[in-house]
Amino acid sequence: MDLKDLDNSWIKEFPTPLIIAGPCSAESEAQMLETAQRLKESGAEVPIFRAGIWKPRTKPFGFEGVGVIGLNWLKKVKDEFGFKTATEVANAHHVYAALEADVDILWIGARSTVNPFTVQEIAVALKGTNKPVLVKNPVNPDLALWIGALERLLGQDVKNLGVIHRGFSSYQKTKYRNVPNWQIALDFKNQYPNIPMFVDPSHICGRRDLLKDITQEAFNVGYEGAMIESHPNPDAAWSDASQQITPEVLADMLGSLQIRNSDI
Ligand code: PEP
Ligand code: MN
Repeated sequence: MDLKDLDNSWIKEFPTPLIIAGPCSAESEAQMLETAQRLKESGAEVPIFRAGIWKPRTKPFGFEGVGVIGLNWLKKVKDEFGFKTATEVANAHHVYAALEADVDILWIGARSTVNPFTVQEIAVALKGTNKPVLVKNPVNPDLALWIGALERLLGQDVKNLGVIHRGFSSYQKTKYRNVPNWQIALDFKNQYPNIPMFVDPSHICGRRDLLKDITQEAFNVGYEGAMIESHPNPDAAWSDASQQITPEVLADMLGSLQIRNSDI
């Protein structure tokens, strides 16, 4: 089977564009439940709640995620507020723990997509799962590596796939944290229009004021969804503080976007 033969039926159970939102990192049960409650109350249409519990930080000795206890908090978010849940997995142990805790959607982070050994290990651990798996672009602008990661998953019969465009790192200072390099994402989209594509404006922008324009640009070219970081008190967040927005600001932003009718 080829990536081109996949259908995108998993995303059809959700409204499109499909919004995934929640904090960069799970910090405490209270922070998770407050985020979930305020997302609900904000009226934002967010079917999927994200939170990183194992955090790939550039430097050691900082906050590296709460670990498995965060899986209990994701479960509470699901049970108490009815969200589907999503988290990042970066090795086979993460996969087994996340599957065991019935996390609904898993994603592979940009620092893992670059490493074929890591992707292969994750793919084997996920073998045959029906859960959607979203693959972020690699940190470096390499389309083949991105596609290769999806092929490794498909090679293990993981067929409910999607991709997340989170921008590419660059040594040059730009206004973005990770330059969008739209052409790479669009080349992917043209080659595989059947694979749902999400924009991650939070990690592209690195700052709040640019989020809306990047999200709008992605929807203008037919992206199927967005993953956006939202925290109850963004300035106090333990990771990625400057790019997170409150649930209420997120709801306003989503309400102000032009959404074209989806053709998927
Ligand atoms: C994240 O989503 O919090 C994250 C670590 O993202 P990325 O892999 O895109 O850097
Ligand atoms: Mn983050």
